[in-house]
Amino acid sequence: MELPAGPYRQQVIDVLRDLVRIDTTNPPGNETACARYLADLLRPAGIETRILEAAPGRGNLVARLRGSGEARPIMLMGHTDVVAANPEEWQYPPFGAEMHAGYIWGRGATDMKQMVAVNAVTLLALAASGLPLKRDVILAATADEEHGGRLGMGWLVRNLPEILEAECAINEGGGGATSVGGRLFYTCQTAEKGVCRLVVTARAEGRHASQPRRDIATLKLARAISRLGDGYLQAHAIPTMRAALHTVAAAQSSYAAQRVDAMLDEGRIDEALAAAGLDAEGVRRMRPLFYDTAAVTGLAAGDPESINVIPASAVAYIDGRILPGQTREGFVNLVQSHLGNDVQVEVFRNQYSTGLESPFDAPIYSLIEEVVAERCDGAALIPWQCAGSTDAKHLIPRGLPVFGFIPSKPLPPRMSEAGAHANNERIWIENVPFALEMLYDIVARFCLRG
Ligand SMILES: [Zn+2]
Repeated sequence: MELPAGPYRQQVIDVLRDLVRIDTTNPPGNETACARYLADLLRPAGIETRILEAAPGRGNLVARLRGSGEARPIMLMGHTDVVAANPEEWQYPPFGAEMHAGYIWGRGATDMKQMVAVNAVTLLALAASGLPLKRDVILAATADEEHGGRLGMGWLVRNLPEILEAECAINEGGGGATSVGGRLFYTCQTAEKGVCRLVVTARAEGRHASQPRRDIATLKLARAISRLGDGYLQAHAIPTMRAALHTVAAAQSSYAAQRVDAMLDEGRIDEALAAAGLDAEGVRRMRPLFYDTAAVTGLAAGDPESINVIPASAVAYIDGRILPGQTREGFVNLVQSHLGNDVQVEVFRNQYSTGLESPFDAPIYSLIEEVVAERCDGAALIPWQCAGSTDAKHLIPRGLPVFGFIPSKPLPPRMSEAGAHANNERIWIENVPFALEMLYDIVARFCLRG
């Protein structure tokens, strides 16, 4: 479906620039200013809008374009807060939304005010299209994602639970293009790894340094953590990563795809990655997505001022990243089994979040696949997992599947975007109307099919 006649391709760029100019650095957030701007944009087109503040200034916008109600709604989600930016470290003002060298520069240009703009203009274009939509389209532009979403999506699902009636949601995450063996693949984020942070403690009697022993706390800890090896503790191909690798391999041959499947069945991850045709960089990026990992990020014992004292305890801090399906207890036991019983493993300050996965045998996933193939020269879609977390964590556990898809074409040679949280964050201007054309097509078809 093509956009209806109208200046939407220019409008989406203008809306993005307006949004970037509203400083929503979180904290303090001040997302209500963005919510008001969006409400003023959408209301004249007859779209219902509500601004809901979880706290003063922390506004969430929920807009709804009504369809016939024959099918369940689709939700387009995006957060309006951004992380801090220090203007002295930027080439152009981070809240200026200036255009230079083919980019729009500004905090939020890629994370993720571009998608908020695309979602809003998609709604305007759908409202103007006159298409007989069989489902409502809900737009949620929420606060506080960068600090976990407690005042944003986390608050909305408790205070406006009707949004959970949607069939699916489209979110940030995937949508990027990546090339393997000369073929182009677009990603759609269907999974997110969880986090489980640990503190490991070795204890023994403290004593004088002139009487070393094998069983002192420092050595117990050193021996234990050396057993973590490279930190890739347990291999498991979740459905998302299995399908991703299968699709990449199948682009070579069905034989390659069969080999990859068999290797994954046997837990031979590295061989499967190579057999799928990934280069060394691709293997490096993808390997953590097949494992529960543990990185030792801190060590503490003793005191240089008491260098002649053997301390009674030694601790290590571990940042664990766990696959969907792994549990808190399961990961603690896994790490303990590697480290042995000379040390004690506990969750650090309750820092645990579960991994998430949405089923991708869903109509919206097939539809995204179809639109990508048609509009991007036959490119294939692969489901994808990221190692970070998004507002999907408030929705997937409550039964609403979330698909991360911010469409962006590969950049021309010598261009490079700077992404989420980076200095000089910028987006290739052409990718803004591109995302609009893609998303409009996906949502329009989804709403016509019911
Ligand atoms: Zn984001």
